[in-house]
Parts: sequence; C-alpha cells; structure tokens
Amino acid sequence: MRILVCTDVHANLEALQAVFSDADARGGFEEVWVLGDLVGYGPDPEACVRLLREFPLSAVAGNHDHAAVGKLDPVTFNHAAEAAARWTSGQLSDDTTLFLSSLPLVVFRGAFTLVHGSLRAPIHEYLLNEESARGTLRLMRSQFCMVGHSHYPFLCQEEEGSPAFVEFQEGRSYPLDGRRWIINPGGLGQPRDRDPRANYAIYDDAEGTVEHRRVTYDIAATQAKIRKAGLPEYLAARLSDGV
Ligand code: ZN
Repeated sequence: MRILVCTDVHANLEALQAVFSDADARGGFEEVWVLGDLVGYGPDPEACVRLLREFPLSAVAGNHDHAAVGKLDPVTFNHAAEAAARWTSGQLSDDTTLFLSSLPLVVFRGAFTLVHGSLRAPIHEYLLNEESARGTLRLMRSQFCMVGHSHYPFLCQEEEGSPAFVEFQEGRSYPLDGRRWIINPGGLGQPRDRDPRANYAIYDDAEGTVEHRRVTYDIAATQAKIRKAGLPEYLAARLSDGV
C-alpha cells in the first residue's frame, strides 16, 4: 500500500489539489496521513478539510487546528496567525469544527507514530535540533515517528543512540532500515525552506521506502483568495518566497 504523508496544509486548496494530482500521476496512493495544521493561515479551511476527508485518513491535531476550534487561545500566536485563526473559526461548518475538535494528538499506525510537533509537546515543540530529537526518541515506542509543525522537510536517523539530521532529498526513495527515524515531509500549504513548492511524501509499505516530493501549484490563485478574504498581506506574500 502507498500512503500519502503530508503536514501543515494550512487551508491551501490549490497546493493540496496539486499534491493529490501529482501523487495520482506518479503511482497513486490508497491512504492519507496528515500530521496536523489542516487549517490556519490559508483561505480555504472548510474545502481542504472536506477534500482530505474524501480519502481513508489518519490525522492528528496541530496548534492551528486547536486555535480554530477554541481549544487554544490564538493570542499566543503572532499577529497574522492570530488574525487568520479568528477568521478561520468563522468559516468552518459545525461538522468540520467537530471533526477538528476530535483529532487526537498522537496516532499509532504499525511501525509509525504520527504527531504534529514532538512527542514531548505534541502541538507546541518544534523538532529541529538534536536536543528536541533526543526528547522524542526517548518517548518513541515505534521504530518511526512522523512530525510536521516546522514546515521544514528532513530525515533524522538514530546513529548509536544519537540523532543525526540528513537532507530529505526531493525525488529520492529512502529504504527504511533497522534504525529509528524521525521524518518530516515538509509543509504542504506554506513551505518555509525558501522553496515555494508544496511538500509531501509517499510511504510505500510493500517496498519499505519513503520518498520526498515537491510540486508547483497556482500560488497566485491562493494569494488572490487570501487578499479577497481580507487576511493579512504577509500571509499572501510569504507563499511566493517559501518562508
Ligand atoms: Zn503549521
């Protein structure tokens, strides 16, 4: 089975549709795993959640999902994120609000643990350095852990008890070996590694591989919707720069 793994969709419908088209054209997929932040920042929260729910889906909650449904006070966010969180709350149907409210913080799927930020602080910690990777490795009860939140794609492999970060190269298929790994597919709807293309990964359980992919999408269309909704200009501008 091939599983499409993505994170930080952030209500970016054009990016999400482009990812599904790309995955369809390159071998297809049978299931979707989403590592949180389905909504927030972007202009299509309701449509993105509905589209994701059309597939067999395993999803965990992110901090922006909690903010959109009143489980987290967005006053802790920066100004643009806070404004978007308040706007998002008003865009969601009751059914989508209930769905986002009921997302678990951690999901276990076979050899994988799915979480938004880290196992130490599921929706708050950015797992980006050795110290935070160690914290999650200590708590992992499965061989692999998939995270999002930072919007940066990476692989982190445990080498003799220590975490070693390596680049998750685009288009390369990595055989999952006997080591423990932490995997971040990179942000789908708001990449932050100075490459504006949407990120996702394909996990192939028969081959035992994970592959990182990037896709161009109609950024101008998403930006026009952000402006039309009256969301902060910065949220539109940053999509062109991938920050
Ligand atoms: Zn995010």
